[in-house]
Amino acid sequence: MRVLENYIAGNWVPSSSGELHPVTDPATGEVLAEVPFSDRSDLDAAVAAAREALPAWRDVSTIARGRLMFELRQKLVARRSDLARSVTVEMGKTLPDADAEVGRMIEMVEAAAAVPTTMQGRILEDVARGVDAETIRQPVGVCAGIVPFNFPAMVPFWFLPFAIACGNTFVLKPSEQVPLTQTLAFEILDELDLPPGVVNLVNGSRAVVEGILEHPGIDAVSFVGSAPVARIVYERAAATGKRVQALGGAKNHMVVCPDAVVEPTVNGLIGSAFGAAGQRCMAGSVIVTVGDAHERIIPPLVEAASALKVGNGLEDGVDVGPVISAEACDRITDWIGRAIDDGAVAVLDGREPSGNADGSFVGPTILDRVEPEMPIVSEEVFGPVLAVVRAETLDDAIEIVNASPFGNGVSIFTESGAAVRKFRHDVEAGMVGVNIGVAAPVAFFPFSGWKASFLGDIHAHGPDAVDFFTRKKTVTSRYFSGGATSGSYFVER
Ligand code: NAD
Repeated sequence: MRVLENYIAGNWVPSSSGELHPVTDPATGEVLAEVPFSDRSDLDAAVAAAREALPAWRDVSTIARGRLMFELRQKLVARRSDLARSVTVEMGKTLPDADAEVGRMIEMVEAAAAVPTTMQGRILEDVARGVDAETIRQPVGVCAGIVPFNFPAMVPFWFLPFAIACGNTFVLKPSEQVPLTQTLAFEILDELDLPPGVVNLVNGSRAVVEGILEHPGIDAVSFVGSAPVARIVYERAAATGKRVQALGGAKNHMVVCPDAVVEPTVNGLIGSAFGAAGQRCMAGSVIVTVGDAHERIIPPLVEAASALKVGNGLEDGVDVGPVISAEACDRITDWIGRAIDDGAVAVLDGREPSGNADGSFVGPTILDRVEPEMPIVSEEVFGPVLAVVRAETLDDAIEIVNASPFGNGVSIFTESGAAVRKFRHDVEAGMVGVNIGVAAPVAFFPFSGWKASFLGDIHAHGPDAVDFFTRKKTVTSRYFSGGATSGSYFVER
């Protein structure tokens, strides 16, 4: 059985902890490898390597660091199909979906390659007579990433390429449920001419996370995962004085207006709710129909969702792969039962899907007659379960959306510019889709949840990545031989 290793100071090394856990293919139940749950000494070694590498790495020219991103991009493109296959095998999403994820991963590297432009500071001449002020950006230091299972390739790359392009060094803790794809990504990183210690990988679980949060050698923490863990990370990292961004869970609403164009709307709703078996933080999990949109949209939606093929994501023609684990399968089927007990009507019930009996499958499920106050509307299920709520007006629909404790993504389906304008203005969420079911911003824009979906100030990727991975330093200067007056700069303007 393959036992995964950590990548520290440019070498693959076994974890010093003897604790090993199986990594399983959720479609078959097959054990793919064993992942170590590393201990504090493994983390200490990674942080020491990252600290040691930092001074020389921040002195590499910004242009050379940007150029390295071009090289990384080419290597990832060359291994794209291997990366996608790895995502499907360990996480379960279908191969085309995994390929799209790897495309987004590569796009992050493309955005990070712009660092000679994006990392520029600003200057203002003559803030007083002969006095100039300038703000420069410098790396933050040693940065750590803690990531979830549902995007094994992309989410770690929301942080790693931007962090190192800005001159930081990095320690990644992948999800213990899907560690294989980042092992492959680090094999690719290892082919670059990166100095040892610039990037490090420590496999493990909670103990590594707790070590990161209290480690004096770590300056900044980027977290993506469930809302309760995001809160722990945010509070504990802040308590030790670290810069922190913590992206949490979600419950995304999709509002359908009476004038929505039926076929593309149904396709958008299906892709959002059931793609990746509903395990995307941008998955739409509540439909709010406005007025008679319900009669127009729900029957064709149920028909189309009933035709989706559930199975192993490696096979052609499969639409919905497995959920991540047997535990997730039980949790999701429990949620369906509870919602039905609360009064919902299952117009499509996925509790007994086709698929390998040893795999973890839940089929697409649509629950109609759901009331806005039911837990199935306010709490995250993270599976292929779609709740349908009815609203009389757009105002009522927006009220239902805004009652959610989460504020990640929302979508509206309509051809009315006025409805879109109102929705965009009033809705309390960080990412809005207009006739788009999964409005995940591209790498060049920030990924920006609100409310319980995000704790922190600076969001992920886009211009925010450079803000997060740099510290600003403002220099005020004058030269007397150049004609500056010698009085108090503070007083005289
Ligand atoms: P999770 O919170 O269980 O795990 C995330 C990471 O935290 C993992 O690396 C895990 O090892 C670690 N962890 C788990 N429990 C911990 C604990 N008690 N103490 C310290 N560390 C702990 O999340 P998951 O199940 O891997 O991923 C799914 C969740 O992630 C969903 O809630 C989803 O909405 C969310 N997510 C959010 C975004 C976003 O952009 N907001 C993106 C992707 C996923």
